[in-house]
Amino acid sequence: MSVSRRRVLLGGTAATAAAVAGAAGVRAAGGADAATGAAARVGVREPVEFTWWGNHAWQIRCGKYVVLTDPWLTRFHTGTYSAAGADPGTRIVSSPAIIDRYVTTADAILVHHGHYDHLPDVPYVARKTSATVLGNETHLNLLRALRAPSDQLSQVSGGEYLPFEGFTVEVFRSVHSCGGKRHQFAFPGTRPGAVPARPRTIADLVEGGTLAYVLTIGGLRILSLSTAGFDPGALRDLQVDVVLAAPGGEPGVTDRLLATLKPVKTVIATHWDDFDQPLDKPAVDWGGLSKLRTSVAAAGAEFVVVDHLQSTTL
Ligand SMILES: [Zn+2]
Repeated sequence: MSVSRRRVLLGGTAATAAAVAGAAGVRAAGGADAATGAAARVGVREPVEFTWWGNHAWQIRCGKYVVLTDPWLTRFHTGTYSAAGADPGTRIVSSPAIIDRYVTTADAILVHHGHYDHLPDVPYVARKTSATVLGNETHLNLLRALRAPSDQLSQVSGGEYLPFEGFTVEVFRSVHSCGGKRHQFAFPGTRPGAVPARPRTIADLVEGGTLAYVLTIGGLRILSLSTAGFDPGALRDLQVDVVLAAPGGEPGVTDRLLATLKPVKTVIATHWDDFDQPLDKPAVDWGGLSKLRTSVAAAGAEFVVVDHLQSTTL
């Protein structure tokens, strides 16, 4: 394999290919679709490769099927993790040359929220790959304003069960993480209705509501969360094998997440790097990783940390 991996094991036992707690539930949820090749494939346990492009940009691949989460690779300087914080006037740029180094194919792109570190490269990636783009009304309006190919956009809001060839996607309501004395997050707001003016600065890319997704691929059920926030009502007793979990947020939020879900085998750290630092160098922890590790260990799950441009296969 051309890719290496670095795994941090804490508590629990390493996942085995034979353990597929999710398969039965998937088949039940698939219902009438189980007769089709696509739905039948979903329950078969096959290797699933996770490649990290920093922030919440993941390429999740099983055989020829590829799903991307919030593919943001251009990484312009914002000051987000500096003492001064992000400069709201920072211009949005998207670099096809950088994206082309990493992105080849994709069948679906899962948009989790509208912020500048998640959305700006989606139009180019969508056009390049012809992937279906899932997002809510605001996410899709911001993408239309950024000249995304509108016929590839699929509006979701939470509750959807979407069978694709080779995988399924379930959509869940979520919330952005917040913090500080006032429990705030950056650039709140929505853009329903008409398509807004073309976003120019990072402040134009409002959060727009947050979604969570469960991707079932290669018999593995993967919960993808783009921030530390989650909606307990939406995720209560949810059964998944893997969680992509971000550090940060209110104290104890990850402990509450892992208590809300049915016991999880593996947690993969996401969104833990300072994205003002380059993608082609080792990731620089902005300071949240150790707390995330502690919470995952307390829950008895395996904790996996993948470095920039590295992969892990489950
Ligand atoms: Zn965000």
